[in-house]
Amino acid sequence: MHPELAADLARLPDLLEETRRRALAFLDGLDERPVVPRAAPPGAGSGAPVELSEAGGGLPAALAEFAQRWEPRLSASAGPRYFGFVTGGATPAALAGDWLTSTVDQNSNSSLDPAGQHLERETVGWLRALFGLSEAHHGTFVSGATMSNTVGLAIAREWLGERLGVDVAEDGVGALGPVRVLSGGAHSSVSKALSVLGLGRSALRRVPLLPGREAVDVAALERALAGTDGPCVVVANAGTVNTVDFDDLRAIAGLRERHRFWLHVDAAFGAFAALSPEHAELVAGLDLADSVCVDLHKWLNVPYDSAVQFTRRPDLQTRVFRNAAAYLGPAPVSGRAGGHGEHPDLVHLTPENSHRLRALAAWFTLRAYGRSGHREIVERNIAGARVLGEAVERIDGLELLAPVRLNVVCFTLTTDPTPERLAALAAALAGEAFLTPTHYADRPALRAAFSNWRTTEADVRRTAEALARAVRTQAADRDGD
Ligand SMILES: *Cc1c(COP(=O)(O)O)cnc(C)c1O
Repeated sequence: MHPELAADLARLPDLLEETRRRALAFLDGLDERPVVPRAAPPGAGSGAPVELSEAGGGLPAALAEFAQRWEPRLSASAGPRYFGFVTGGATPAALAGDWLTSTVDQNSNSSLDPAGQHLERETVGWLRALFGLSEAHHGTFVSGATMSNTVGLAIAREWLGERLGVDVAEDGVGALGPVRVLSGGAHSSVSKALSVLGLGRSALRRVPLLPGREAVDVAALERALAGTDGPCVVVANAGTVNTVDFDDLRAIAGLRERHRFWLHVDAAFGAFAALSPEHAELVAGLDLADSVCVDLHKWLNVPYDSAVQFTRRPDLQTRVFRNAAAYLGPAPVSGRAGGHGEHPDLVHLTPENSHRLRALAAWFTLRAYGRSGHREIVERNIAGARVLGEAVERIDGLELLAPVRLNVVCFTLTTDPTPERLAALAAALAGEAFLTPTHYADRPALRAAFSNWRTTEADVRRTAEALARAVRTQAADRDGD
């Protein structure tokens, strides 16, 4: 054994204790460290790159160098005032589950070594219950909502083949001919998925939205369906990133009485509305979808990366992703319902073959806090967004661009709302709170998305005060020019 490996093995308890100590120091500092540090990351500048070490130096050397060069430059994205994109943190139980995921280092994809797969199935069952999905939905863990949308649309593609009597998994996407994917406010990852799947980004047809909304106009969707002959997929949106708007899922599902299409719902973070009785109506009808995307590293507050893909047609999923090799265990048989029983091995269900026991962090947080714990996080975040929205309305110089429907506040400057001035405003805030730019209703804007379990009322106040200060300073500088 290499001497550094042998030395680390001999002092493993001390080294893990030191790692734990540093992890705690990082978490303790989350509230104080700049939310996004301004210092350029090492390597971003013109300095010579650090060469790969020949001798190493063992874990102590790696810990010391990480602490010195990298850790101070990392953002507090795990903390309470990182409102950029839609970013969750990690609950204590999720963090512990994630540490243990690396510790046990399972590759849970085959019934030849089955415990990990069973843990994943148990976790999927809990998630189904959390989001009000029926047992007809099978679920699989993937790395994020982009991958979940990709897998859902891959199953949709296979379904289109089934309808047309062609086998896309065998013969390729060319057998399908042109495909239409209709959606109101589809997330950018849907276009990426269509590119990956060979359907092409141009397959996506934007259907008009309701006036002043990001939700699809269902009557316009029906007209688009009537005007489309050939295979069709509808991507419905449950929680858009700018204003958290929701398509009317029940009405869209109802269109299947007159039109045939696969219904995929991107509920990356919107699915969590189901946890709050006051907001659950927003996702009524989710269960009617053929496939559903839900992110877990956002509002479930498990560490990156984790999402789940639900579908009513695991048989088609297996047709797409089956990976037959004698050394991997039982192979599913091609064709509907295959010969692989009710529970195909996970190796046959996603683009990945090997993957970490990704479900464990979700299992831990659900076991630790249950439905009520996760409901409390969701409801506290919604309340926080509402309070920040009210503060924005009171700040002279800011304008709320949409009602705060759930957990995102979308606003802009009343005077000169250029991308540059908004970027400057965000930069002036970045030590205290991190907000990201967007475009909404043809206007440059900023958005603050709430999904971290640590965010309290005090954080909202601190953010609102920092925002008011930054707007005043910017206006004063402008008047001074
Ligand atoms: C975040 C998000 C995605 C993409 O999720 P990743 O986890 O970054 O892959 C897709 N759709 C919606 C609605 C999202 O909010």
